[in-house]
Amino acid sequence: KVNELTELDKEHYLHPLTPPKMQYEQGPPIIVSEGNGVYVKNESGDTFIDGMSMLWNVNLGHGQEELGDAAKEQMKTLAFSSSFNGYSHEPAIRLSQKIASMAPEDMNVVFFTSGGSEANDTAFKLAKYYWKLKGQSSRNKVISLSRGYHGVAQGSTSATGITEFNSLVGPKSPDYLHAEPHLLDCELGDRSHEDYHKSVRGIIEQEGPENIAAIILEPIMGAGGVFTPPEGYLQALRDLCDEKDVLMITDEIICGFGRTGKNFGVDNWNVTPDMLTFAKGSTSGYIPLGGVVMREKIRDEMVKTDDVLFHGFTYSGHPTSCAVALKNLEIIERDNVMDNVNNMEQVFKAELQKLEDNHPHVTKSRAVGLLGAFELYADRDKEKPFDPETGASFQVVDECFKRNLILRSIDWNGSNIVAIAPPLIANKEEIEEIFKIIDEGLTAFEQSLK
Ligand code: PLP
Repeated sequence: KVNELTELDKEHYLHPLTPPKMQYEQGPPIIVSEGNGVYVKNESGDTFIDGMSMLWNVNLGHGQEELGDAAKEQMKTLAFSSSFNGYSHEPAIRLSQKIASMAPEDMNVVFFTSGGSEANDTAFKLAKYYWKLKGQSSRNKVISLSRGYHGVAQGSTSATGITEFNSLVGPKSPDYLHAEPHLLDCELGDRSHEDYHKSVRGIIEQEGPENIAAIILEPIMGAGGVFTPPEGYLQALRDLCDEKDVLMITDEIICGFGRTGKNFGVDNWNVTPDMLTFAKGSTSGYIPLGGVVMREKIRDEMVKTDDVLFHGFTYSGHPTSCAVALKNLEIIERDNVMDNVNNMEQVFKAELQKLEDNHPHVTKSRAVGLLGAFELYADRDKEKPFDPETGASFQVVDECFKRNLILRSIDWNGSNIVAIAPPLIANKEEIEEIFKIIDEGLTAFEQSLK
């Protein structure tokens, strides 16, 4: 069966974020067949530990039957109903209320999408629409951070600051501007800083605030390399947005619903954005769902007119997706999953520290909740990177994969970062098992350098 599936995959299945030539010639590195907790099995019956919750999304782990049951029950009752023209149904109503109750302050209004890219494109359109309704239709530009990842739809690709994602098609839209991340001093107003013109503040001043609709950023940058902002950074951007009358959007697509031990990433710094976007963890990946949560002031502008909101997806507020999300959030609360994340964060950090102690190329390890990473340098004290030919982070991730652990290598722009984001239900033994394999993988990599 494995051979048959491999041949069919090569012939018919064009994979996202994969080199098509490699896939066409070699076929899939793994054909996953089932999952249970932090483990998945391949078609040959080998067990792997899912150290990435697949795409940072299977937060409750694999094989949660209750989520399957919730989907089945909803499908039997009402699999699908429209949300257009004001049509409504209980799962979407209850889920919007539940998410509003989890979001900070008066972020009480929810718009649903099918995933994260759609959520970010929606947030950009709503931001521009908000300003149009307020008579400021020149506010059309969106600022995001270099190395930030926001998805692959038109707007979200343009906002994505990992340059490779904009390489598929011609020049990206000039309405999307990129700032250097985490320049705290500049955002606080240090105009003498050499990188001032690259900061969010510098760009707003250069472009004129009257032309800026919003800024978007991940509270903790995920795909760009799991970068945590310096203390005070999110608050500095909040203050900047208030000063310049720009909307602040946080992309909570990885951070949301417990990944960092809190409801949302911004809760780690007590900052309230004007909109936040979510997807992945809202259903633990069991079914597609995403959305935008916004402050009441944004909805309040819309209800001043009789105009139709000309935006919406067929699957906005899909009943089955909403029913699964409700069950997912119920389990997170019932089983104190966020307490587990906060307890396991200590184990996670201690294990990361051990890697730094025992492996000469490992440095800059970091974790918030169960979102973590470490970096590899040829000379870590001098921060001398590995020769790109070495493919250091890829090699380490590959050595771990050979030992049945799934991780993610991040190697944009010559960096060598290994990301680790296990399911939020992982226990101490499972986290230690992950790190035992990483330790072995690093040792094998080090030996290959000799
Ligand atoms: N934003 C962030 C921070 C993400 O990590 C992702 C996906 O990895 C997206 C947006 C895009 O979401 P989706 O792949 O569901 O469109």
